[in-house]
Amino acid sequence: METAVKYPDVKKYINRQLEVNVEQKIDVFSTIDGEIISHVPLSGFATLDKAVEAAKAAFPAWSNTTIKERVQIFYRYRTLLAKYREELTELVHIENGKTHGEAAAEVDKSIELTEFACSLPQMIPGEIMEVSKGVECRTERLPLGVVASITPFNFPIMVPNWTTPNAITLGNCLILKPSEQVPLSANRIAELLKEAGLPEGVLNVVNGAQEMVEAICDHPGIEAVSFVGSTKVAKIVYKRATSNLKRCLALGGAKNHLLVLPDAHLEMTASDIAASMSGCAGQRCMAASAMVGVGKIDHIVERLCEEVKQIVPGENLGSVISKKAKERIERYISEAEAAGAKVLVDGRNTTVKGHEGGFYVGPTVIDFVKPDMAIAKEEVFGPVLSIMRTENVDQAIQIENNSSYGNAAAVFTQSGGLARYVMDKVSAGLIGVNIGVPVPREPFAFGGWNESKFGVGDITGKTSIDFWTQVKKTTTKWNPEARINWMS
Ligand code: NAD
Repeated sequence: METAVKYPDVKKYINRQLEVNVEQKIDVFSTIDGEIISHVPLSGFATLDKAVEAAKAAFPAWSNTTIKERVQIFYRYRTLLAKYREELTELVHIENGKTHGEAAAEVDKSIELTEFACSLPQMIPGEIMEVSKGVECRTERLPLGVVASITPFNFPIMVPNWTTPNAITLGNCLILKPSEQVPLSANRIAELLKEAGLPEGVLNVVNGAQEMVEAICDHPGIEAVSFVGSTKVAKIVYKRATSNLKRCLALGGAKNHLLVLPDAHLEMTASDIAASMSGCAGQRCMAASAMVGVGKIDHIVERLCEEVKQIVPGENLGSVISKKAKERIERYISEAEAAGAKVLVDGRNTTVKGHEGGFYVGPTVIDFVKPDMAIAKEEVFGPVLSIMRTENVDQAIQIENNSSYGNAAAVFTQSGGLARYVMDKVSAGLIGVNIGVPVPREPFAFGGWNESKFGVGDITGKTSIDFWTQVKKTTTKWNPEARINWMS
């Protein structure tokens, strides 16, 4: 029996139907007040198998439509995202803890991602050429079949929209597995696509955690797996899916370094870095986590702290995902302090009036962090900025290069030459010059380097087309008078 909570228990979505789950369930929390808002099943292979069967049954008809027809559904879906923007914003706010502004931005970004998918017909016409007299070569992009997308907690609407519109528009049938910590938004996406006219079985949503992810990597009916989450799990998924001969693209965690030079524009740098380290409560794979100050930057640190002190938990700072996450983040701060770092702004033991049960960590700035401290090397995933000091730009680049991650890096300076030098030397996939969160907008692709991504290509933009399709190469000869030559 379902207990009385804000949202009904999460159901799997197969063949355009929400179905009751009978599996073991876990609680879903509102991170803003710590209350249980729903329950989500921990499903496994049996549920997945049903979803794969539904997707397989849908694939022949779906892949047999033209892309011009398929994209019409996403034009309508785009309109529905805009129509239900407020409702979706509230849902993300409640299940993830983002501020309303951040949650609305996620919906807006999802609209932009869908617009990219709507442009796919313009981007994938094949090639054709008469390669020798009477002989033509032609290429066309075809879908893979049943594919899967596994997503993390930190963007419940946006990350599923990195994959869902592109994979489906390109003719695949998709199994979406959202994070068990934020399972509500994915079903809403499925409902909107149903309203937009997506046929039965083309999108199926399954729930669960480790067991479900392993089942996806193992299921023989799934051709490709995309994953977004921590590096630890990205490695597991990449190894397991590819050892089962599936195509895999697995995006992992991040430790992003912002290199700040003394000539950086004071106000812009301070406000950009404050926004980058605290936006989405620091739970962005693009968040500023480490600032590396080169030379005399005390004036910038001072101004940055003034900016950070304007950030108020519960107002312009959301909650973190769980009690466990709050404890982990606060432990990193305390350990750094004990090891000799100086806490300039302290976000530990934060509570928000009226939301005392919420999982809030206040914005935190820690100076004189050493590169060998855990807080300098590991992904903290909270509104915490560690400042390291170096004497010259090469030492700063060295610190960035020593990181095992490589999602984003940025430089703040007014010198074009120094900016170029840093751009060339840092080892990351997404580079910012005077930008704290260098997320490219569509049609530019998103994806990191090193242990922030495993697999070829990026998850959005043009190379995502390669991931979700295979190319058929056809050579044709109709005229018998074109005699056999060395290539035909
Ligand atoms: P996570 O790795 O814990 O979970 C991601 C997915 O994997 C979830 O669906 C979860 O159910 C599943 N999972 C968790 N543990 C598993 C296990 N042991 N075996 C198999 N599957 C498992 O990540 P998260 O905490 O949900 O999300 C935060 C992480 O995601 C951060 O590290 C962040 O940097 C990263 N992230 C990266 C990007 C990127 O573009 N590189 C984007 C968003 C988030």
